[in-house]
Amino acid sequence: MPALPDQAYMARALELARKGLYSTHPNPRVGCVIVRDGRIVGEGWHARAGEPHAEVHALRQAGDKAKGATAYVTLEPCSHHGRTPPCADALVNAGVARVVAAMQDPNPQVSGRGLQRLADAGIAVQSGMLEAEARALNAGFIKRMEKGLPFVRVKLAMSLDGRTAMASGESQWITGPAARAAVQRLRARASVVLTGADTVLADQARLTVRPDELGLNAELTALALMRPPLRVLVDGRLRVPLSAPFFQAGPALVATCAAASARDRFLEDGHELLAVPGSNGHVDLNRLLVELAARGANEVLVEAGPRLAGAFARLGLVDEYQLFVAPKFLGSSARPLLDLPLVRMAEAKELKITDIRAVGDDWRITAVPL
Ligand SMILES: [Zn+2]
Repeated sequence: MPALPDQAYMARALELARKGLYSTHPNPRVGCVIVRDGRIVGEGWHARAGEPHAEVHALRQAGDKAKGATAYVTLEPCSHHGRTPPCADALVNAGVARVVAAMQDPNPQVSGRGLQRLADAGIAVQSGMLEAEARALNAGFIKRMEKGLPFVRVKLAMSLDGRTAMASGESQWITGPAARAAVQRLRARASVVLTGADTVLADQARLTVRPDELGLNAELTALALMRPPLRVLVDGRLRVPLSAPFFQAGPALVATCAAASARDRFLEDGHELLAVPGSNGHVDLNRLLVELAARGANEVLVEAGPRLAGAFARLGLVDEYQLFVAPKFLGSSARPLLDLPLVRMAEAKELKITDIRAVGDDWRITAVPL
């Protein structure tokens, strides 16, 4: 069988890495393919923190056939002793002749040292193949490593006329089942699902991952449920009662700038309280994100009302918008998408649409701030 181009094997490694989309955090999603004489002899992907890295799975499958082979990895092999031994050493010991990486590891504990260790052992090393795809897959991990902040994705559902709820607050089921399944998968891939008191009080929101609505196979569903996102409620004045469905649905973290005396009642039910600086009852969102990154959050999904989502937008904290658009008009008295008090056209927030696709009868727009 004639050998395929390097890119084809790297594309396969990326496909394997994507299986970890819902379960590897705080670790990155990584895939590995080992090829000898034009044949794939080993494949692996990282499933969960604490479990073997992609390279280890692939080397195990390849066995003796790894000798003289080329290993394609979507991220530079690690060189440090974490919870598992360094993969760079495993590749050297297996006698691999060549290693192709999609990108360097942004982890300061690695960043080039893994590739260097391979090169020092006489292995041919190459980096940067399908790098854009690899970076997109781990945008959250990369941002956390490079900036100490998580990747912030804001999900919004709106009508064609840009409205999210009736004036009464009635907002359930704007979009159809396919869009709701897509939102479930956005939650499942996130380290943190973040909302505000308005949403929890008005919509009785739980922000949980519901396995039957994910639309994933049994293996990925099981993995997703082992690593559910942390549900974070931003509640500056502690307005949400413990009897709210949000708290009844499981342990959560409440970020508040309320006085210490008001906080005690939340600890009893197994919830965690995080004191964050703030002003006028508004939590400092930047400080909150720094804290979440310090806890290992790669991707934060914001599912909030116009005020909190608007605050993220105003502060320039949003990396990506996921806009679900339902083919209906809610009318001029309905509520707006974001609370953004702009006056002049020059103040308009500009976005670049990077993807648009149909989801059932609705549309899904991916946009990034310019
Ligand atoms: Zn490793």
